[in-house]
Amino acid sequence: MPIPLTVSDFAYRARLVHRDRLAVVDEPGVPGALGRLTYGELLARADGMAAELDRMGVAAGARVAIVSPNSAKFLVALLATLTTGRVLVPVNFRLAAAEVAFIVGDAEAEVVLIDPELDGALRTVGAVHRIVMDGEADAALFAPGGEGAERPEVPEDAPATINYTSGTTADPKGVVLTHRQHWVNAVTFGWELGLAEQDVYLHTLPQFHVNGWGMPLATAAMGVPNVIVRTVRGDEILRRVDAEGVTLLCGASAVVATIAEAAEALAGSGAAVPGAGRVRMVSGGAATPAAVIERFERLTGWEMIHAYGLTETAPVLTVNRVPARDGLDGAQRAERLTRAGAPLLGVRLQVDEDGELLARSAKVFDGYWGRPDLTARAMRDGGWLATGDGAELTDGSVRITDRKKDVIITGGENVSSLEVEGCLHRHPAVADAAVIGLPHERWGETPHAVVVLRDGETAGEDELIAFCREHLTHFKCPTSIAFRDELPRTATGKVQKYRLREE
Ligand code: AMP
Repeated sequence: MPIPLTVSDFAYRARLVHRDRLAVVDEPGVPGALGRLTYGELLARADGMAAELDRMGVAAGARVAIVSPNSAKFLVALLATLTTGRVLVPVNFRLAAAEVAFIVGDAEAEVVLIDPELDGALRTVGAVHRIVMDGEADAALFAPGGEGAERPEVPEDAPATINYTSGTTADPKGVVLTHRQHWVNAVTFGWELGLAEQDVYLHTLPQFHVNGWGMPLATAAMGVPNVIVRTVRGDEILRRVDAEGVTLLCGASAVVATIAEAAEALAGSGAAVPGAGRVRMVSGGAATPAAVIERFERLTGWEMIHAYGLTETAPVLTVNRVPARDGLDGAQRAERLTRAGAPLLGVRLQVDEDGELLARSAKVFDGYWGRPDLTARAMRDGGWLATGDGAELTDGSVRITDRKKDVIITGGENVSSLEVEGCLHRHPAVADAAVIGLPHERWGETPHAVVVLRDGETAGEDELIAFCREHLTHFKCPTSIAFRDELPRTATGKVQKYRLREE
């Protein structure tokens, strides 16, 4: 008899094996925060929530939306809903009220859980049950309950979460991920990272972003403590790494840069950077330039790991970890780490004739919620998902060259905006850079850079263009540069190039 692979397996193991181990350290000083909980206590809260949802008449299959920065309650809600066949809809808490309302409505969520700080801004967002997680309105929902509650057997192909993609280009679409897809992702990603009982995990990655990339499940299976970070601040991250003995964290490339800056400031004050030789940090969601990786590893003494994936693939497809035994110097390591790396076990990849990366795996989603038209557009024959990313696949390792739509075609030559951005990042005055194609009479398109300078730096357009010409083939160099105080990014760190193009 085939036994289904479900999220309950992770909760079962945590309860049986890790009951008395530390499960979560919640953000202190937040109304309704849960403090420090063992796995036994965390799962008791999940039991309590499951029982309360029963009482509220929220059936298996119903959608429960949550709009919140990282919190212990997010972990409770994830375990409570998924282990009882309900479907969690984690919503990006930085979205405007109209977008949140669109998602809650599109998913037809019966319950929406709202962080107290967002209550005012999201006044217009409602559902049958709208519950503010302030410690009072949600007291019954997050109270510990008895273990004995009935647990329906959930089929492995049942939806577990609906994650709305962050939309660098279009309206959000709901990616339906099943129990089996979560299972395979958490286990293979955790394996790649060498996740073990000795680890302590820091939640710098938003939990709403593809369910924290599966880390909340992987940590439960291995009895790893989850240290919650509500707001990403470099100095605070370093303080938690020190205070809680953190060994592992994930984040977008902007978080990598933030940590490097805080480490530089700390070292400048004469203090040691905590976690050197101990911490590994996974960066993904967008490309991290080699110069940023090199600086990060040098300033922190932490190991950088590169991951690549999509919401539609639950999410991680590839991981790149460079062993110290390879004996590369900092710059060589950083260059190697700009590759997205090798496919995880169970992931097959190929690059089609247009240079687009295709993926086939038990982790690839079944479809967009209520949008079979979009699903059909994303899938190719034989179950291959078109990622929309340009890639090279050599020696079993992937290099993401671009989002397909970000390729700049100038005079018939393809220019990877990532390559030009990587070059600009090597200039000491550049803090951030994005490159887009602008229409050009002669060349069709020409590369245009939008640059954020480091504090106190004054490099001008001519100097930066000259710098690119020293390092890049001529046609790849920006022909114009605009300066801004910051780049428009999605909550998950992707530059919103369509906004730059509009401007
Ligand atoms: P999302 O589903 O919102 O996480 O977006 C997925 C997209 O993010 C991918 O299709 C890529 O375009 C981009 N992405 C994710 N990880 C990386 C990475 N390591 N390097 C470059 N782009 C990435």
